[in-house]
Amino acid sequence: MVKSMSLTLSYRIQKIEESKTARFIPLMEKLKRQGRPVISLAIGEPTEDTPSPVIEATKGALDRQETRYSAIAGLNELNTALADRFPDSRPENIVTFNGSKQALYSIFQTICNEKDEVIIPVPYWASFAEQVRLAGGKPVFVKTKNHQLDLDAVAASITKFTKAILINSPNNPTGAVYPRKDLERIAHLALINDLFLIADEAYNFFVYDNQPYASLYDFADVRDRLILTRSFSKHYAMTGFRVGYAVAPTQVASAMVRLHSHLTGNVCTFAQHGAIAALEMEETLLLRRRKDLQRKRDLAFEQIKPLFPCIRPQGAFYLFPDISRHLKNGETSRDFTTRILEKTAVVLVPGEDFGMDGHVRICFAAPDDQLLDAFNRIREVL
Ligand code: GLU
Repeated sequence: MVKSMSLTLSYRIQKIEESKTARFIPLMEKLKRQGRPVISLAIGEPTEDTPSPVIEATKGALDRQETRYSAIAGLNELNTALADRFPDSRPENIVTFNGSKQALYSIFQTICNEKDEVIIPVPYWASFAEQVRLAGGKPVFVKTKNHQLDLDAVAASITKFTKAILINSPNNPTGAVYPRKDLERIAHLALINDLFLIADEAYNFFVYDNQPYASLYDFADVRDRLILTRSFSKHYAMTGFRVGYAVAPTQVASAMVRLHSHLTGNVCTFAQHGAIAALEMEETLLLRRRKDLQRKRDLAFEQIKPLFPCIRPQGAFYLFPDISRHLKNGETSRDFTTRILEKTAVVLVPGEDFGMDGHVRICFAAPDDQLLDAFNRIREVL
């Protein structure tokens, strides 16, 4: 039979792989169906309940039949409340997306042309590289030093094709939080080289040890080139609601709305009502969650220290230990996580998936008993 050439898939889609983190969801379900005592420290998702005011507001919206289309950019009430949190911003600068993942996808689609380069410090959240490729751009990976930005390496990687620098602080997968002085230098590099800045701040409130959090938004002179994304998922345990947002210069925001209008249209209307309720809640919830995550960070870090070298994360909810001395005969971190899964039923994400082999990512936003059980099982195998 003659092989059909017209039934081939696009080059674009052939070049990309499935989300390295999201693929754990079906795997977990399969292992559970097989009756294995699985503990997943893989997917970055808080395990506690969504706060009741969010649930009540969502139910209330459903009871009121708030089930129709909303404005593409998001409900005016939500976008106004969000704009109030960013000096100089107006509701036109806010676009609400189906999670900050879609916001990031849309940013690259909006700013990248063929051959445009986006600078991404390594290790990086797995979807960044694929999202840049899907937009026809080229991810340019830049090394870090002990998980902190290597500013000279960032400066050296700027070429005439560079379109943007992407900064993710607190970082997924390392938990690194970048100090204000380093962000100031990044802002300066963007200014003098006339580049966009992209700030993925999905974990902005989860910064520990009373450290002040610095955002690229703090630098007023780069706000006309900065596209920032944040999310309701992690802070309010609303991962399934799929509500995130971008704060962007007006021209970029309106271009992203044009794209959004052909892609999904608005974010689920009643989920947006849940998000409004989340914003109206007292900050005490976030403070309590941050305190609890800091305690879990300490608990997990004490467990990991005797097992592997690991830099203490200052934010987010991941450990990213160096497991290289446990790799035998050319094994990769993926082989290591497979071995751990087979022998202990604990699911971890290989560092390769974040562009850094010899490491694994461990999510510590899990119940304490599961964390301790998982570390005991790993310790026994090692
Ligand atoms: N951001 C989370 C993670 O890194 C959720 C999965 C995803 O959206 O990729 O595990």
